[in-house]
Amino acid sequence: MQQVTNMAINTVAFQALTQQLQGCNITLVAVSKTKPVSDIRELYALGHRDFGENYVQELVEKQPQLPADIRWHFIGHLQTNKVKYIAPFVHLVQGVDSEKLLREINKQGAKQNRIINVLLQVHIATEETKFGFNAEELEDLLQIETTAALANVNIQGLMGMASFTDNVAQVRTEFQSLKALFDKHAEKQLPNCDFKILSMGMSGDYEIAIPCGSNMVRIGSLLFGSRN
Ligand SMILES: *Cc1c(COP(=O)(O)O)cnc(C)c1O
Repeated sequence: MQQVTNMAINTVAFQALTQQLQGCNITLVAVSKTKPVSDIRELYALGHRDFGENYVQELVEKQPQLPADIRWHFIGHLQTNKVKYIAPFVHLVQGVDSEKLLREINKQGAKQNRIINVLLQVHIATEETKFGFNAEELEDLLQIETTAALANVNIQGLMGMASFTDNVAQVRTEFQSLKALFDKHAEKQLPNCDFKILSMGMSGDYEIAIPCGSNMVRIGSLLFGSRN
């Protein structure tokens, strides 16, 4: 039997997507997890600069092999003891899901003499997962007493993942709830916060997320093909 391997990126999808997104000022993060650096180079050659990875080890292996002007987004669950490995270069840590992690990022940012951009991950899906703040925890965290002490982070907004379901109405409701939280906290104008990014939408649901107010989508399989 013939083994069909498709290593190439989907340039047609990439061009269509960038055209669609640029028109409405939405940032495309190309999620390159599990994909070879050659795939990243292909997209880079087409002018793309924002890439997302969700394993620290994979990211630190890829980063030195690729151009220095790539903006690396860490999109997965980040363990506090691994922050130090990505702190020197990461562009945006999406998915900060605890105050402990936020404090560690701040500490490593100070060590690197830089301000590390982060998004807080909110748990909006009905599915049980360990990761993400709920509305109440977010409220507790986003207080002046807390954020004022975090001079080496810049909290730029929120990130969330909707339920993995074909129920469009449910996914839309979840994205709308995240947008409402974003608007609520953006109003507060807290120190070391600059609420401007609402990261929601992946290959399967970005078209639902955009009308709900997303301005950053994280797209993997649509660009790179399905992962094994
Ligand atoms: C893998 C991943 C994506 C991309 O998923 P696709 O369905 O391949 O587009 C987006 N966000 C997060 C947090 C991910 O882990």
